[in-house]
Amino acid sequence: MSWEFMRGAACAVAWLATVLPWCSAGDEPGGTDEAPWYAPWRAVRVQTVDDAEKAWGMVRDFFGNMRQGHEHEVWVVDQDAMPRARPLEDCLAELEEDGLDFPRADRGCRMSAQVEVDGPVEGVTFTGRVRDGVAEPLELGCELALRLPRLARVLREAGVRTVVVGEPARFTLRSYHRFGLAFDVYKLELDDGTTLVVKNDFVLQPDAETCAGDPPQAAAGAKLREIACALWDERVLSTVITPNYNEGHHDHFHWDVRPGDDRFYLR
Ligand SMILES: [Zn+2]
Repeated sequence: MSWEFMRGAACAVAWLATVLPWCSAGDEPGGTDEAPWYAPWRAVRVQTVDDAEKAWGMVRDFFGNMRQGHEHEVWVVDQDAMPRARPLEDCLAELEEDGLDFPRADRGCRMSAQVEVDGPVEGVTFTGRVRDGVAEPLELGCELALRLPRLARVLREAGVRTVVVGEPARFTLRSYHRFGLAFDVYKLELDDGTTLVVKNDFVLQPDAETCAGDPPQAAAGAKLREIACALWDERVLSTVITPNYNEGHHDHFHWDVRPGDDRFYLR
């Protein structure tokens, strides 16, 4: 075997190592995603804002317009409210500046370092999945963690004190869960002790936009819609998906942040 051949093989292995995904595995509830064997944006070394924009652009190209084509969906373009594409270090520095001293999680992705959120943020407690009575720590990507105070303020206005989230960071083909930048919310607890369960209490609006028309008559349904629509109006998140979206989301809200994308989506 020649030296050139071995060097070529070593380079090929090194390249593969840069594009293979190594985030957590799992499936979107109800989804049919299958894991791709590569992630092209991982070959970009993100050191500047330009690099970050390039990498997130590759993510968008790869994901395609995955939300397009749902009846009564709403897209809004808002340049001023968009989450920025930037190197991770910049996001982590802003977390620190904002006094959000979330510890770094053990696992993480090159595109979005994970931090562990424990304890209340602006009076709202975000808990991970509860197993055997113990809530798992909530791991979020930096850009989503950075938005928690704004998110919490909107939730506090609605009287929410606890948010029960599914596993945010997990491997799905075309979803920002890959980066820990999405989370699925199953339950919310209010100050008066009421628990809102998305699966039971959300009232479907199959023939209208989610935030259009009269609110549902039942108090719990009206409250859930009020919360989703307040987050939408405030542009806290890039995506606000309710059970109106599809059967795969019948039991949770999906909220995400998409760096470098000026489009906002509601269904
Ligand atoms: Zn989701």
